[in-house]
Amino acid sequence: MAKPHVIVIPYPAQGHVIPTLELAQCLVTQGVKVTFINTEVSHNLVTNNCLDKDGFGGLMQMVSLPDGLEPWDDRSDPCKLALSILQTMPLKLEELIVRINKEEESSRVSCVIADDCLGWAIKVAKKMGVRRAAFRPASVATLATILSCQKLIDEGIINKNGIPLSDEMIQLSETMPPIKPQNLAWACFEDSTITQVFFKFVVQTEEASRLIERFICNSCPELEAAAFSMYPQLQPIGPLLARNRLADQAGQFLQEDTTCLTWLDQQPPCSVIYVAFGSSTTFNQTQFEELALGLELSNRPFLWVVRPGMTKETATGYPDGYVKAVGSRGRIVKWAPQQKVLARPSVACFMSHCGWNSTLEGVTNGVPLLCWPHFCDQFQNASYACDIWKTGLEFEKDEEAGIVTRIEIISKVEQLLSDKTYKVKALEIKEKVTSSVSKGGYSHRNLDSFVQWIHKNDA
Ligand code: UDP
Repeated sequence: MAKPHVIVIPYPAQGHVIPTLELAQCLVTQGVKVTFINTEVSHNLVTNNCLDKDGFGGLMQMVSLPDGLEPWDDRSDPCKLALSILQTMPLKLEELIVRINKEEESSRVSCVIADDCLGWAIKVAKKMGVRRAAFRPASVATLATILSCQKLIDEGIINKNGIPLSDEMIQLSETMPPIKPQNLAWACFEDSTITQVFFKFVVQTEEASRLIERFICNSCPELEAAAFSMYPQLQPIGPLLARNRLADQAGQFLQEDTTCLTWLDQQPPCSVIYVAFGSSTTFNQTQFEELALGLELSNRPFLWVVRPGMTKETATGYPDGYVKAVGSRGRIVKWAPQQKVLARPSVACFMSHCGWNSTLEGVTNGVPLLCWPHFCDQFQNASYACDIWKTGLEFEKDEEAGIVTRIEIISKVEQLLSDKTYKVKALEIKEKVTSSVSKGGYSHRNLDSFVQWIHKNDA
């Protein structure tokens, strides 16, 4: 019997492509044929940096579609990319499905699994009579704010373009941490144009959620019980990475520097501060230097990921003589094999922007977090780590200086590492999420039922 053929499509950003590929890998190992769609730019990055260049042993077809921008256009501009995708990709996806169905008569596309922020892909699937599922690669607490957007408009908390109108804290459910309207995932940008463009995606996600048959989420109730109980139709299947914890991470846009693993293995147990802020967070020069000095003055070993372009200025943004001064106590790399780093026994804590993947990777490895949220869902993720799981501490900006000072950095590092309860809590939550994705666990059973649905729907 032919395998069911599924199209899997992520939003073209690092934090979406990695977990969506994790999902696709799970599906191919359970007898599903996957065509994985990236934009041309993401496709080239992923295939250039992937250890396995033939689509996971030939099990997965890796296909690319244009995002509508020119090769030289700046894709780090979120509005430009998002709007161009919206204009270009629906038709391209439609054409692709038509082509596959013609060329592979016996293996027609039976289902589209789209990133939940790609409402247009769900609409294309509906138009073509293909079954539809959404995949949420980020937190369900943030999704709850998105699914409540009409209510927030009706209550006058935001306007119809998503801009906050009030300072009053939002409490979606009694057991969820309250959120400042200004920290809503789409609203925490200085430039209100970004908010308005992102809010278009929010509205699309909300609309598309009514057209889908299954909504699977890379999370579990052990992490976000209240958010899941608000929306029983959301099915937890994560954290996917915990199913296959030390496998090679797929979907990297940058080449991993694996030499840092040898360095980590030479450090004492629970001694290293791992510092990484995901794929797109940037720092101004003053804040970057202050962070550098904070790490130096912490007097502990640290592994710091400094991506090209992390400071808007040049790559030589360190204080004078810095690299020499920290010597072998500080290791700086452009991109780390993060999941493997976090599994190393020498890592004591993770200083993170709290992107959902980084947060899950910290949780899954029982590593306490030093939270430094910048935008989107990061504020909500940080408040889960600090207020619900109690595995983290959040940095506060000095109001006068407008930055997180070196004193704040040293003091929070000391506080987190001298109080053992953070590590104890981190290990407890690790245990819970690991059992959820293990055979017989809730997330594991949900993923099995999702796979059965894909198979059944093809019969
Ligand atoms: N990552 C990595 N090496 C690094 C920094 C990040 O492999 O040096 C990976 C990390 O493991 C995570 C992803 O990049 O899976 C970042 O996703 P996240 O949601 O944390 O943040 P975003 O990049 O979306 O802001």
